[in-house]
Amino acid sequence: MVAPLHPRQRLLMGPGPSTVPARILQALSAPTLGHLDPQYIGYMDETCELMRQVFRTENKLTFPVSGTGMAGMETVLVNLLEPGDEAIVCINGVFGGRMKDNMQRCGATVHSVEVPWGETFTKDQLGEAIERHPKAKMIGIVHAETSTGAHQDLTGLGDMAHDAGMLLAVDAVTSLGGHEVAVDDWGIDAIYSGTQKCLSCPPGLSPVSFSPRALEAMEARETPVRSWYLDVSMLKNYYTGGGGRAYHHTAPINMVYALREALAIVVEEGLENRIARHAEMHQLLRAGLEKLGLSYIPQHSLYTLNCVSVPEGIDEAAIRGRLLNDYDLEIGGGLGVFAGKAWRIGLMGESAQRKHVLTLLAALEDCLP
Ligand SMILES: *Cc1c(COP(=O)(O)O)cnc(C)c1O
Repeated sequence: MVAPLHPRQRLLMGPGPSTVPARILQALSAPTLGHLDPQYIGYMDETCELMRQVFRTENKLTFPVSGTGMAGMETVLVNLLEPGDEAIVCINGVFGGRMKDNMQRCGATVHSVEVPWGETFTKDQLGEAIERHPKAKMIGIVHAETSTGAHQDLTGLGDMAHDAGMLLAVDAVTSLGGHEVAVDDWGIDAIYSGTQKCLSCPPGLSPVSFSPRALEAMEARETPVRSWYLDVSMLKNYYTGGGGRAYHHTAPINMVYALREALAIVVEEGLENRIARHAEMHQLLRAGLEKLGLSYIPQHSLYTLNCVSVPEGIDEAAIRGRLLNDYDLEIGGGLGVFAGKAWRIGLMGESAQRKHVLTLLAALEDCLP
């Protein structure tokens, strides 16, 4: 006999997933409907409408990709790029690097602009990159670089890209639901996020949105999208109802219930209140960490991901192990360049609460030599 499932109740304060509220877990356990059942289609349409509110967009083509954040990244890039295209990618951490890898796999010629890990791009650096590569079809950038905790300012970049005839593609996996993300105001043409970060939903879906300009670019493709599963030209009929709700693949019904609940929680709290809460919890955590002698790596830190240097001579993995085993508390270690050298503390959605911040600070103080 298989032992009963008994996952421990952990406080998830790493780079994702974040702690999931009971209300969302209950939504997951609601009866499964058929993916063409009118009642389910109603729930799905509501979910897409809530996604528009949280993305702050009117984009008709806004839907949850079946898969985690990386599937969202692939959906955006594989539908907008084809062999022969050029693209610019901004790299200051792991996820910019993954964007580049995906762009190359689409057959595009990729021009990278890089700044050191932990830093962000200035308007001038972005303007220069656009000027240097005028034939690029797209510029791709990460809003919230989870590997370093750096917060990239995106204001003005949409206009710069559009003036040069380019599309702006944005990774908002660790910002949506925790930081301001204004798709229409910022002129973003394609954006993807994930459920398990600041939306505090289990992992499994990736909210994406495409502007009318991006839709035009997809319609002007000369070659079929290289991914069958993620081909928006086929998916859009099901999600937007155009041409009937034709079957493409079976939607992850119960995950859509969970996302609908997670987005409802965001809208009930109010986007502005929610962002203010993340800012406040970041300040509380930052003051406490600095009192413990820990310093932040990025100059422009995210609220949602706090990346601090591990002091000399400390076994960072051992401390994370103690936090997990003695306190049921998860934080993240460094990634890539920062492996073994940093801790990454997430303040995402449900986890961004005063009681959790104070618990973490007390536990960390107890574990530090
Ligand atoms: C987590 C993350 C992803 C990937 O999401 P998965 O859900 O792990 O596939 C992509 N980009 C950023 C910035 C992330 O933080």
